Amino acid sequence: MHTTSKTTVWFSSYLAITTIIITGWCFPFGTPQAEWLKDQRAIMGTSISVELWHDDVDKGKGIIELVFNEMNRIDHLMSTYREDSQLSYINKHAHQQPVKINSELYRLINRAQHFSKITDGAFDITYASAGHQYNYRKRLKPSSDSIAAVLPAINYKHLILDDKEKTIHFEHKDVIIDLGGIAKGHAVDRCIKLLRQQKIKHAIVTAGGDSRLLGDRRGQPWTIGIRNPRTSKDVIAMLPLTDAAISTSGDYERYFVQEGTLYHHIINPKTGDSARSVQSVTIIGEDATTTDALSTSIFVLGPEKGLAIIETLPTIEAVIIDHKGRTLFSSGLAKAKPLPAQPSSQLH
Ligand code: AMP
Ligand code: MG
Repeated sequence: MHTTSKTTVWFSSYLAITTIIITGWCFPFGTPQAEWLKDQRAIMGTSISVELWHDDVDKGKGIIELVFNEMNRIDHLMSTYREDSQLSYINKHAHQQPVKINSELYRLINRAQHFSKITDGAFDITYASAGHQYNYRKRLKPSSDSIAAVLPAINYKHLILDDKEKTIHFEHKDVIIDLGGIAKGHAVDRCIKLLRQQKIKHAIVTAGGDSRLLGDRRGQPWTIGIRNPRTSKDVIAMLPLTDAAISTSGDYERYFVQEGTLYHHIINPKTGDSARSVQSVTIIGEDATTTDALSTSIFVLGPEKGLAIIETLPTIEAVIIDHKGRTLFSSGLAKAKPLPAQPSSQLH
């Protein structure tokens, strides 16, 4: 990661449309003279976008297709929504016996276990036996009894990984795993690798709240805006970044409000309930697998414990909006002064 992100934060109140705003996109996709090429599709249950610089428009478009193919491949491997994915197969069979799995999936589960260990279980892919009981679209939450019944199954230590055989085994019969907190970052990293192999020097790949930037924006850094989690209209901080990954986890992504309580998609594995000490967490680092896992983890841990972990990780920075709407920065970003806290208001 280049040091622009460490030393400068630009504050602004630009209009925000999505979680992360990438300013400066120009030339519409498809015009003959275009060299910045951009496309966007719905894959992995989220919006995926790719923008890259190429001197040859047709070749550039072909490379963008390769990126979407790669996203689809990873979705087929790792989605819990797809009955035919390898992850669904694991969830059906790994409590009966060790299941041999694809080495890419094995490595990612191993990586998820690493984040569980360094966050004292705040990141835990076994959160799913509680998490899957919520239906945000239908505004349904489980009873406290049904959460209590599955809490013993939520523990990353129930996952037994065999490095030699590349197998996974669930030690508890009710374990379900879900890679929603890390797979998008992994997919973004794989796509950046693919773009490098195609000799692309300037690009940005985004999957939902996870982005990675390849190079700069031809002579200037990419500028990424962090949205105000409560208004969705303005941006709290602008980050100039080059060759970096950035992930934001927010409580406004998938949620409903019931009797004044916000239920959203990031679950505290210790309680089976939504984590509520922050509104959003943005992590900046070198690779999107790390920033994705850490944004979810720090969301669960909250500002104090979260920043304490970030300070131990030399290449990682964080911007946290706490439950009162106050903006907190890790020490590498703290030189810039935050805007006054945004008023916390209705979710919409
Ligand atoms: P993100 O938007 O990257 O923060 O990821 C949120 C997603 O991570 C959720 O939709 C779940 O699929 C998954 N998730 C929720 N809580 C946890 C947790 N405590 N540990 C790991 N993954 C989680
Ligand atoms: Mg994440």
